[in-house]
Amino acid sequence: MLLENRGAVVTGGGRGIGAAVARALAAAGARVVVSARSTDQIESVAESLRQLGQDARAVACDVTDPAQVQALVRQSTELLGSVDILVNNAGIASSAPLKAIRLEDWERIMAVNVTGPFLCTQAFVPGMIEAGWGRVVNIASVAGKIGQPYIAAYCASKHALIGFTRAVAVELAKKGVTVNAVCPGYVNTPMTEESVANITSKTSLDKTAAREYLENLSPQGRLMEPEEVAHLVVSLCVPLAKGITGQAVVLDGGSVQS
Ligand code: NAP
Repeated sequence: MLLENRGAVVTGGGRGIGAAVARALAAAGARVVVSARSTDQIESVAESLRQLGQDARAVACDVTDPAQVQALVRQSTELLGSVDILVNNAGIASSAPLKAIRLEDWERIMAVNVTGPFLCTQAFVPGMIEAGWGRVVNIASVAGKIGQPYIAAYCASKHALIGFTRAVAVELAKKGVTVNAVCPGYVNTPMTEESVANITSKTSLDKTAAREYLENLSPQGRLMEPEEVAHLVVSLCVPLAKGITGQAVVLDGGSVQS
């Protein structure tokens, strides 16, 4: 129970990686606020944790809306006492060749994947500085480390998120607050199901072949599991990880080596 009595907020916690992160933090002893826009999903994750005897609450928030982020800070602080851990996981993806990227899609990806983590980090970090202890973990992607075709907007957003991570990590280095990014390859989540559907609609590949294509992007020939990402997040939050900051840690079965 290395995170006993720590307060944690997980954005995008209603499904996929975020739900796994909420479960792993709670299993490590943290009290967790699960947040996203879909109240049914976050209530369901929080309820499943409470049934295990863990302390979890759901608070709805769209991370692109500064007023909702301020409300998330207020409610989380009331519920948890203090917020020691912030996991900026909420994110969206879309794919299109360069010539077909619509400005509105570009701006929406930037708003959710970059502005959201900025707003949340700016809002939660003052409490961590006051406490002299904090952990911020941003869920980036291997697309934040290398360029990949047909996802220029997503790649740009995740590169930006890693840049943000590095800058804030150095700024907060003497405050007891670490800031890191996690960079998964394709993970077995609803977002990847959407990617499979997108590939089948735009190519001659059927669902099985599209999934195999994504699996074979990893030398391990498989999708990563949300629980693996969650384990990495928890390992960046434990007290002895205090020297790890400004890092962007890849979890993809060996494809991107940096
Ligand atoms: P997912 O299954 O689609 O879940 C995304 C979560 O983010 C949902 O809970 C969603 O809930 C929430 N969300 C979306 N827009 C939001 C907004 N504006 N405000 C608040 N919450 C919002 O995705 P996932 O695969 O678990 O991905 C989680 C993170 O990992 C993302 O940042 C993604 O880019 C990153 N990632 C995923 C993969 C992958 O292969 N799946 C690989 C690398 C990195 P609502 O829609 O209800 O708000």
